[in-house]
Amino acid sequence: TASSSSFIPSRSTADWQALDAAHYLHPFTDHAALARKGTRVITRAEGVYLYDSDGRQILDGMSGLWCVNLGYGRRELAEVAYRQMLELPYYNSFFQAAHPPAIELARLLVEVTPPQYTHVFFTGSGSEANDTVVRAVRRYWDVLGQPQRTVIISRKNAYHGSTMAGASLGGMAPMHAQGGLPIPGIVHIRQPYWYGEGGDLSPEEFGKVAARALEEKILEIGPDKVAAFIGEPIQGAGGVIIPPSTYWPEIQKIAQRYGILLVADEVICGFGRTGEWFGSQYFGIEADLMPIAKGMSSGYLPIGGVMVADRVARVLIEKGGDFNHGFTYSGHPAACAVACATINILRNEGIVDRVRSDIGPYLQQRWRELADHPLVGEARGVGLIGALELVKDKATRQGFADPGEIGTLCRDICISNGLVMRAVRDTMIIAPPLVMTRANVDELMDKARRSLDETLQKASQLAG
Ligand code: PMP
Repeated sequence: TASSSSFIPSRSTADWQALDAAHYLHPFTDHAALARKGTRVITRAEGVYLYDSDGRQILDGMSGLWCVNLGYGRRELAEVAYRQMLELPYYNSFFQAAHPPAIELARLLVEVTPPQYTHVFFTGSGSEANDTVVRAVRRYWDVLGQPQRTVIISRKNAYHGSTMAGASLGGMAPMHAQGGLPIPGIVHIRQPYWYGEGGDLSPEEFGKVAARALEEKILEIGPDKVAAFIGEPIQGAGGVIIPPSTYWPEIQKIAQRYGILLVADEVICGFGRTGEWFGSQYFGIEADLMPIAKGMSSGYLPIGGVMVADRVARVLIEKGGDFNHGFTYSGHPAACAVACATINILRNEGIVDRVRSDIGPYLQQRWRELADHPLVGEARGVGLIGALELVKDKATRQGFADPGEIGTLCRDICISNGLVMRAVRDTMIIAPPLVMTRANVDELMDKARRSLDETLQKASQLAG
């Protein structure tokens, strides 16, 4: 269109790639490797499809980064942002001010989230939401006269963002290896990863064992020093690790037993991904704080927040005085307006119900068919999120010698076949837009199977 082309020129793919290599530092990227290959340039998108600078159509099996839940090209979202930008493009909520989009979004969020949540603190991202969690949790205990309760327990291979606190809460060894992380007062227990770590235990037995690691850690630290436990209902970036049904109820009991706060990071699971509005509802988790982002605006504008349960909010509000925390873009008007529109679309079009009772079960049924493939050790999923474990030996679950090699190969083959699937080491994962049709699911499956076949072929060539 005229308005975008006047600021963003048309260039050839080669020109974009050269400029990219010359100037652009990407997130989570090996730039030397990228410069050799050249970046993929995505120029537009519609529905569940991306289009690159060569005009190739790619089915987006990841909803961008787990966020474009409503798919691309929703005019209402663009229009609400446009109208809000003309009306009031920016104002803050510091110094006793607010504006209608933020207030309305707060009201709507309280309406669609589980009943204990009565308040929200807005942020610009999921990472900032988790930084807010760390500060709010410690502030809560301080206000209650227990300032020694500072330790937050998280899990290995968790992902909670990329800021200092977010990456510290996260349990990813490669992230901790850079920049002196984790920051003090954050510790990690094992993850509920049955396929990888369950051994001979049934999923139900293993779920309890993994949860009891929380109690062991609390006793090791001293219950009077522990402030909170944080977990993603389903670990997303860690490889779509779906805990056994026994895990969260046991975690809940332990948190209750020692009076620590429970934090459910819903940045991925929130807003319909599991077929419930929130992953907490899918697993029956009753948490005290709930970081949200991504699907909250369907990714159209950056926004996040922390839902705060009444009992925590009351302490902070009635006894807390100033909470010395906030961001310039806490409750950005245009982002809030888009989030309001997103929630209304999810509701009015019954999209979450459709994930639960129609497209989710269909995708899961088809996804599990891939378990018969020689490379696939397990095909798992819930709602519109799924994972495939690529293994060398299906019987023993033994993986490949060089973790990440076959996953990366498969990911690249998927892209050449017109499908975005993400690789977490050798686990292939999907989280497609919630609005996909059965025909889109069938296309995803065809492309996934063809890509697995080609991966197997290439891998045996490499091995041979
Ligand atoms: N929490 C979870 C569970 C996430 O998956 C992510 C992002 N993948 C974040 C937090 C961080 O969100 P952001 O990238 O918006 O900072």
